[in-house]
Amino acid sequence: MSDRGILVVISGFSGAGKGTVVNKLMEKYDNYALSVSATTRVPRQGEEEGVHYFFKSNEEFENMIADDALIEYACYVNHYYGTPKAYVEKQLNMGKDVILEIELQGALKVKDKFPDTLLIFLTPPSAQELKSRLVNRGTETDEVIEQRLSRAYEESFYMDKYDIIIVNDNLEQCVEQIHNTIQCEHAAAFRNKEFIETINKDLKQFAKGE
Ligand code: 5GP
Repeated sequence: MSDRGILVVISGFSGAGKGTVVNKLMEKYDNYALSVSATTRVPRQGEEEGVHYFFKSNEEFENMIADDALIEYACYVNHYYGTPKAYVEKQLNMGKDVILEIELQGALKVKDKFPDTLLIFLTPPSAQELKSRLVNRGTETDEVIEQRLSRAYEESFYMDKYDIIIVNDNLEQCVEQIHNTIQCEHAAAFRNKEFIETINKDLKQFAKGE
């Protein structure tokens, strides 16, 4: 079967718990590589350069765009966010499933460019729960929370563009569901064309003897 890694995008409303889910997935399984994005937003408390993001000035980010160093980029709540290309390609070639934790515009651009990308959308069980999580996180001002909820409303129109919707209600179950989804995806027929061709060719030998 194919040993090339799968490019997996995990998106979801801001406050859906993507960060926690992705961290847990990485902690539990070693067959995933997490892409670290570049951004022009300021670091939150506890965020480290090169671990959570590569923090860039506008000029530095625009140079990365000009150098074609990003697979995709998007502007989200007044800041640039983008996926550096080199790391992703290297990990996929090494057979790792690469996880991109990115927002919707970027996700759709990646799918357009690489149609075999698996798009996963993570959502809390309800809109009310989303609002509570954003408020309780306590890292954003009321104004930013409002912006993020409006953005979530807009994003909800595009949820059906994703391959899989996963409800993040229970962390462990959610992580397992994502892991199982990605592992099953390795068996997709379109990812195993060579295997199918080999079986077909070998069967031809046997069929000759009929
Ligand atoms: P935050 O500021 O909360 O870390 O991230 C804001 C949004 O940007 C999240 O939805 C996150 O998934 C998304 N994001 C992070 N990195 C990237 C990236 O490289 N590209 C795109 N398109 N979105 C990203």
